[in-house]
Amino acid sequence: MQERGPAVEIEITLQPHGGIRGRCSQCRRPAPGYDRLPERRWQFVPLWGIATGLRYAPRRVQCPEHGVVVEHLPWSDGKRPLTCALMGFLARWGRRLSWRETARVFQTSWESVYRSVEWFVQWGLAERQLAGVESLGVDEIHWGHGLGAANFLTVIYQIDGHCRRLLWVGQRRTEATLRRGLKALGPEVVKGLRFVCSDMWRPYLRVLAAEAGQALHVLDRFHITMHLNQAVDQVRRAESARLRAASQAAAQQLKHTRWTLLRRGSRVRGRARQKLQALLASKLQTARAWELKETFGHFWKYRSVTWAGAFLDYWTWRAMRSRLQPMQKVARMLRSHEELILNWFRAQGEISTGPVEGLNNKIRVVTRRSYGFRTYKAMEIALYHTLGRLPEPESAHKFC
Ligand SMILES: [Zn+2]
Repeated sequence: MQERGPAVEIEITLQPHGGIRGRCSQCRRPAPGYDRLPERRWQFVPLWGIATGLRYAPRRVQCPEHGVVVEHLPWSDGKRPLTCALMGFLARWGRRLSWRETARVFQTSWESVYRSVEWFVQWGLAERQLAGVESLGVDEIHWGHGLGAANFLTVIYQIDGHCRRLLWVGQRRTEATLRRGLKALGPEVVKGLRFVCSDMWRPYLRVLAAEAGQALHVLDRFHITMHLNQAVDQVRRAESARLRAASQAAAQQLKHTRWTLLRRGSRVRGRARQKLQALLASKLQTARAWELKETFGHFWKYRSVTWAGAFLDYWTWRAMRSRLQPMQKVARMLRSHEELILNWFRAQGEISTGPVEGLNNKIRVVTRRSYGFRTYKAMEIALYHTLGRLPEPESAHKFC
C-alpha cells in the first residue's frame, strides 16, 4: 500500500507466468515472446472502499499469422485505462444510481462511468440476438427543451409477448431516421415481421408500408387515446379562456378539471366525480368533448372488424357534427386511417398496446434525467443500457 497525498491506494503489480507463453491479441493463440512494453496501469474495482490499481508491463509476441502484436490481456480491452471488471462494475451500478452518483460513490469521474457504460452497451449490442422478432413498435419521443427537429427521437421497440425491449434509437423523426433504424436491424429482421405498431405520423407510415409491407400495420390504442385526450384539453383551454374573459363565475366550473378530464370516466371518484357530473350537466363545450372521448372507449370492446368499422363511422359522424374543431380534427384523422386502425381488430390477441406505453414511460424517466447526460450520445447509451435488455459480459465482480 502506498501513500499518495491524502488518498490511500492499493497497487498490485503483476508478473507474467514464466512457463506460459503470451497469446496473440488477435487470434488468442500462444506465440513466442518478442519484447516487453513499458509498464501500464489499470484501475481495478475498489477493494474495501480503497482505490485499487493493477500494474503490468505487457509483452509483445510474434504471432506467425499476425506478426508482432501485444499479448492478450484478459482484464483489459484495448487502450482503456479501466479493467473490464471495473467497467462492468461501474456500468451495473450506473443503471441503479445516476452516473454522477456512481462516480462519487466509487471515487471515479463521470467520464469513467460514461466510458464504462458505453463499453458495456457496445459489448451487448454486438452480442445480442435478433432472431425471432415478430412485432415492432415505432414511436417518436420528445426530449430536451426545444421543439426543433433534433429534439425528437425515433425509437424502435420489440413488443412480442415473450420479449419487450428497446431495439434502436436515433435522432429526429424523419423517413430517413426510420430507414436508418430498420437498416440497423437488418433485412432478416424486417422481412420476418408480422406486426408493426405505430402512431399516425406520416413519415413512419410511409416507410413501414415500403419496407415491411408484409406485416400487419396497426395504429395502436395508446396513441389514439392520446390524440383524443389532447383534443379534449384543447377544447377545455379555449373555452376556459373565453369564459374568463366573460365572467369569473362561469370560469370556475372548468377550474382544476384538467386531470379529471384526461381520466377514464369510470376511474373518477369522490369530489372530482361530483364536479365532473356538474360539468356534464352543463351546456359547456368541454362537457360535449369529454363525452365524445368517453364514448370512443367502446370502440376497443368490439371483436368484429365490421362492427368496429360501423362504430367508427358513427362516432366520426357525430364528432364532425359537434362543431368542436379539435374533435373534428381527430375524426378526420381517424377516417383517413380507418383501415390501419381496424387492423387492431384483425391482430386481436396477438399484440397489446401495454408494452409501447410502458416502454414510453420508462424512456421518459431516462430522458428527463437528461441534465445528467452531457450529450445526445450519452443519453442514447443510457437508453440502451436501461431498456435494451442486452446480454452482459461475464464478471466476477457482480455486486448488483
Ligand atoms: Zn495471431
